[in-house]
Amino acid sequence: MSKPVQIAAAGLSAVQAAEAKLLLQTYERNPVLFVRGEGVHLIDDQGNRYLDLLSGIGVNALGYAHPAIENAIAEQSRKLIHTSNLYYQTGQAELAARLTEITGLDRAFFSNSGSEAIEGALKLARAYAHARAASNTGQPKIRILALENSFHGRTMGAISITHTAKYREPFAPLIPGVEFVRFNDVEDLEAKFDGTVCAIVIEPIQGEGGVFLVSEEFWERARALATRHDAALIADEIQCGLGRTGRKFGYQKFPSLPDIVTVAKPLAGGLPLGAFVASEKFASTFIPGMHGSTFGGGPLVCAAALEFLTIVEDEDLLANVRARGAELRAGLEKLAQRFDFIDEIRGEGLIVGIDLAVEGGPFVQEALRQKLLINCTHEHILRLLPPFIVRQREVAEFLTKFATVLERGSKSAKKSLSRAPKAEVHTQPMALAATR
Ligand code: PMP
Repeated sequence: MSKPVQIAAAGLSAVQAAEAKLLLQTYERNPVLFVRGEGVHLIDDQGNRYLDLLSGIGVNALGYAHPAIENAIAEQSRKLIHTSNLYYQTGQAELAARLTEITGLDRAFFSNSGSEAIEGALKLARAYAHARAASNTGQPKIRILALENSFHGRTMGAISITHTAKYREPFAPLIPGVEFVRFNDVEDLEAKFDGTVCAIVIEPIQGEGGVFLVSEEFWERARALATRHDAALIADEIQCGLGRTGRKFGYQKFPSLPDIVTVAKPLAGGLPLGAFVASEKFASTFIPGMHGSTFGGGPLVCAAALEFLTIVEDEDLLANVRARGAELRAGLEKLAQRFDFIDEIRGEGLIVGIDLAVEGGPFVQEALRQKLLINCTHEHILRLLPPFIVRQREVAEFLTKFATVLERGSKSAKKSLSRAPKAEVHTQPMALAATR
């Protein structure tokens, strides 16, 4: 039997053949085999350098091979990688101190992924509602509201609150009591939010959904209704949080706080780590034995996460996210004037959606030929999630090459114009979605 290292050494086509035979076929991968990364570049097995505007779907916010992250991981790996949550360990308390400080909430729980952070948040909201109902002998309070066009992950709870039918339907029955509210539709929110709701889950910016920004009016109404009905307002900040908008969290442009915040993606510099952070009111519901994780918050990932948060502060990366994001969107707005199949540019900081009137796939393929990494969501929205460390000249380089991508890609994409479905969401134009 050939060892993995021998398969990889034989190159891309050998890996493709082996994966086609050996892996569950859940991913449609691009035909490229990356072996190394440096800053904002990924390097394939042929030595080609790609400018990465996607950062491992928002994970590699510090790019690749950041020396401080490398050192933190190397140093901690020599001391202790894992002990389990049966014992005290270094890192968790310190990381919880940082996360509670930046979220404005009280207690953290560590998971291994975004989906697991969502599961924990949903469990906490249900447990809180059950505990209160027991003391009040009130009506069952089990309903969970989520938004149309949402994405919250792939585990059973997380897909139950994910709107896209193809992610949900093959796995029915899902958890009961979930209902979807029309995006930014306050009337629909008010109609569905009553005393039987235990939680509403909102991505302040929908990421997988195609970069749609929740309005202040909608957020504040959700906050008021959650308070009135003693339900949890859960902010899913897994994609838009931890600096991506140029603020620490997407919700921080709104006056009110959520009760629970979920984070993951960039938190541990590329290692798997998620968390949910909750206010004392909700957090105190969990007692020993009610929730847990074998790996969650181990010493290695916590050391990497502490370093990530320190670098974001020390290198003033939020200012860079805002400045580079503004340049990127200004450049894209110019391109939108030149290419009439660009419907809208949306986003904040370094989360950007380019909504097309044609299918997006050919543009992703053309970008790959131009050695640019981008992706496409909902068939017609190109999405950019560049690393926070991206520099002015790399933004300029992207914009120049992307003009060629748009020109060449449009030749094949135009043919399928009528097949590109529009996401059914209420949107707000860029000008109103002010970057604060
Ligand atoms: N929530 C949001 C907003 C996400 O973008 C994602 C991942 N794309 C998830 C949850 C799920 O995270 P994970 O893939 O780490 O489970």
